Amino acid sequence: MSYWDVPERPLEPPEEHPVGYCDHCGGEVYEGDTVYRIDGQCIHDDCLEDFAKDYFADCKEEVEVCVKARAWTDDC
Ligand SMILES: [Zn+2]
Repeated sequence: MSYWDVPERPLEPPEEHPVGYCDHCGGEVYEGDTVYRIDGQCIHDDCLEDFAKDYFADCKEEVEVCVKARAWTDDC
């Protein structure tokens, strides 16, 4: 019996292959990760806030205007 007969095992688990890439940061997305699919884009859970700020930049407006608009529509 010899320890040298034991097949060498890799120290690290088998390399995971990314299933996609985040369209915000370009980072890898792995199976099991939480992502948002927005307009066909894949966004990390962690990147959503930054992404949303860019994505909805056109929707940004002064609160005062928003409150006024709410009086006429529920879409605000
Ligand atoms: Zn990301």
